[in-house]
Order: sequence, then C-alpha cells, then structure tokens
Amino acid sequence: MHIETITPADPAWQGQALCAQTGADFFFPEPGSSVREAKRICALCEIRPACLDYALAHDERFGVWGGLSERERLALRRTAR
Ligand code: SF4
Repeated sequence: MHIETITPADPAWQGQALCAQTGADFFFPEPGSSVREAKRICALCEIRPACLDYALAHDERFGVWGGLSERERLALRRTAR
C-alpha cells in the first residue's frame, strides 16, 4: 500500500515539513508498527503546531501528524469536546 506524504494546500508549509525530507514510511507505518521514529522527527519540526491544527481541522485519520498518532489525535478530539 502506498500513501502519499503530507501535502497541505499551502506550499510554504510543505517546504518546512521535516517529513517531506524523510518520506512517508515513518509516518504511515504498517498497523502495529512503532511510530517512535516519526514522533522523534516531529519533535524537531518547526511547524508541528500548524501540522497538528491541519490534521485536526481536516479530520486526518491515518498516520502521525503534528507528533501525534491516530489514537492520540482521537483522544485529543474527545477531550476537546
Ligand atoms: S510535525 Fe511531523 S508530520 Fe507534521 S510536518 Fe512536521 S515532521 Fe511532518
């Protein structure tokens, strides 16, 4: 299965995304695989808050966005309600 890396509408955002330099494999791992490496990269990414906002606003269900896994974003959405 191939999943594209993050491609938000704003190209300036893309240019700063560390994941664009590493490829999508870390960020969209096979089910049950570790997301530790993706989170490590996100922790170094300057646009992490904007990325997380984007993922929450667009209801991104898969992969690591803004340093949070699918489960973590779901939990965040539930606590925000
Ligand atoms: S926070 Fe993570 S997923 Fe978001 S753009 Fe940066 S490296 Fe990519």
